[in-house]
Amino acid sequence: MDLTTPLTYVKGIGPARAAMLEAKGLISVEDLLAYVPFRYEDRSNTKTVAQLAPGEMATVIADVRSAQLSGFRRRNLGLFEARFSDSSRAILVCKWFHGDYLAKVLAEGMKVALFGKVELDSYAGELTMLHPEFEILSGDDQDGEASLHTGRIVPIYEAVSKLTTRVLRVFSHRVLEALPPLEDNLPEYLRRRLKLPDLWTAIRETHFPPPDSDLRLLNNFRSPAQFRLIFEEFFWLECGIALKRSKARALPGISFDINDRVREKVKAMLPFKPTGAQKRVIKEIADDMKAPRPMNRLLQGDVGSGKTIVAAEAAVIAIENGCQVAVLAPTEILAVQHGLYFKQIFSRLDYVCVLLTGSLAGREKTQLKKLVAEGLAHVVIGTHALLEKDVEFKRLGLAIIDEQHRFGVMQRLGLRQKGTHPDVLVMTATPIPRTLAMTLYGDLDVSVIDELPPGRKPIVTRHATADRVEQVYSFMKRQIDAGRQAYVVYPVIEESETQAMKAAEEMYQRLSREVFPDIPVGLMHGRLGADEKEDVMRRFREGGVKILVSTTVIEVGVDVPNASVMVVEQAERFGLAQLHQLRGRVGRGAAQSYCILVTEKMNDAARARIRTLVESTDGFYISEMDLKLRGPGEFFGAKQSGLPSLRVANILRDGEILEIARREAVDFVSHPSEREDLRRAVAYIQGHWQRRYGLVMVG
Ligand code: ADP
Ligand code: MG
Repeated sequence: MDLTTPLTYVKGIGPARAAMLEAKGLISVEDLLAYVPFRYEDRSNTKTVAQLAPGEMATVIADVRSAQLSGFRRRNLGLFEARFSDSSRAILVCKWFHGDYLAKVLAEGMKVALFGKVELDSYAGELTMLHPEFEILSGDDQDGEASLHTGRIVPIYEAVSKLTTRVLRVFSHRVLEALPPLEDNLPEYLRRRLKLPDLWTAIRETHFPPPDSDLRLLNNFRSPAQFRLIFEEFFWLECGIALKRSKARALPGISFDINDRVREKVKAMLPFKPTGAQKRVIKEIADDMKAPRPMNRLLQGDVGSGKTIVAAEAAVIAIENGCQVAVLAPTEILAVQHGLYFKQIFSRLDYVCVLLTGSLAGREKTQLKKLVAEGLAHVVIGTHALLEKDVEFKRLGLAIIDEQHRFGVMQRLGLRQKGTHPDVLVMTATPIPRTLAMTLYGDLDVSVIDELPPGRKPIVTRHATADRVEQVYSFMKRQIDAGRQAYVVYPVIEESETQAMKAAEEMYQRLSREVFPDIPVGLMHGRLGADEKEDVMRRFREGGVKILVSTTVIEVGVDVPNASVMVVEQAERFGLAQLHQLRGRVGRGAAQSYCILVTEKMNDAARARIRTLVESTDGFYISEMDLKLRGPGEFFGAKQSGLPSLRVANILRDGEILEIARREAVDFVSHPSEREDLRRAVAYIQGHWQRRYGLVMVG
């Protein structure tokens, strides 16, 4: 047996169980070993029932005295009650609501380990546990395996379908018995310096901690064995990122010349005085562009912080050096928006801007592509359509990717290959918590705009239930009478864009005919043609249209400073980041702006999201909350986000280990103690990168 052996070779795992394991991604022996316990119980010297104290979390081993569905006055509660006792003869009563299924599980005479919070039912004068976790100890054990479950610190695994912690414990044990000791790939000097146990010890002790282990450390994932596995997972990930980064830096890039003429052009283009943060950031970008290697920079800044103008300055540098610029947007409407914006600010410089989107008619598209290929278009703006193979540039020098989390690593690459190593500037709006940025964008240099343009007033955010929507309308009316404009947004639920469109359309009819018959209302959604979108957007921007009813296509990038009201319908359906983005569409001018979140039916999670937004306009705080509420896996939504899949480590829980691993990885890659070490590491990472982290190793 080795790490690649399929789990079907393990005794006790037949096709049915293998299928359950596979559904959880557990296919090989290595997968099973990476499925580590999420909790440990000390069953070596457990208390007796008599020793239990109310209020404590405890493990106790006791026998079932009686077990039954409780005769409750209200029927169908399914309250299952079992009474336990042990040598101390004291009684512990355990209760499970909706516990009907337990009638077939727990029976008199069984020995059971129980884990839960001890409480005193003072009315009955009994010790109780509500919904304790439990494990039946009297079972069909093989020789020697009974001792896995009691009399020691016992690993608790999350059940995999019908496979209980007990079954999984036996499997891990069997695998560890059958495997020869594993080779350790972590550099020796690191192991010594950080006092890490070797791989084989770490794996065994994570699954079956030795008797003298510190239970508290184990349950905090900080035993030496767990630390080593977490560190290792991060370390190889960060090594891969560091290698990728150094490789990208070794490529020949364009060395842009920044002279007085270029500076004059930039000055002529700027519609306002840049903020201090914008100046600092453009300097960082300009330095990268001057250097003879390709720029790989992330421009981070909260919604409304003014990233676009910084991107435009970079574009001027490239164009004045005889290069073309590509601007890639995540949605068509945002591409349209950028198209309008760049056309406008570059009109003074006589640059030719071309908007290439998926909905263009064939002939028009062909003509525009020709302009691009012949180098007659200076700026090319588009969605992913720009990544299609047949879009050719004459001399692509700078790619600006307005990412908003939607593009993965692969797509970034696709664009990069359009030119001979063009400079790449990725812009993201929602601030990303540091630890996530380190993994997701670890191969990029980072510039941060941490200052809003002057004169901005914080947006006032309010929550309104749907039954009070009339008040919301009259508020909108007052704002519009005062010369402002408003958005009304409907959620697009992924599986039913059509539905959201219908809702938006109905609302458009209602608002324009009944509620605001004297006010021009516009409608925007994903199914409109590019021309129609451009037309509605232009009318809204010019102020002819006062209210824009829209689906979430306007989520990102739309910039109409005179709009001061954002009404989000069914706000409970939106994620935090999305709501923050939407809110960022207002508050762009000097007037006080408002965001009104209208909700219909809310659960606790939705309530927490709405509360977060009402309380704060700080993008960093909101994204930390988002990460906490949703967990790292869903934080970025789609799989294509390029977020590595971690098994033992957890970005939220293990941030400080990630920092250490990153530091060590950068150090290791830049001066490997021995060349041989690095060569081995590279080979190891290349074999593991895709499989372990779901990432693509570049080059
Ligand atoms: P984001 O970072 O969300 O992309 P934008 O680039 O769209 O932000 O800028 C938001 C708004 O602020 C725009 O209306 C833009 O014209 C304006 N703006 C940006 N920088 C400045 C500045 N230095 N002074 C005044 N207004 C600015
Ligand atoms: Mg923007």
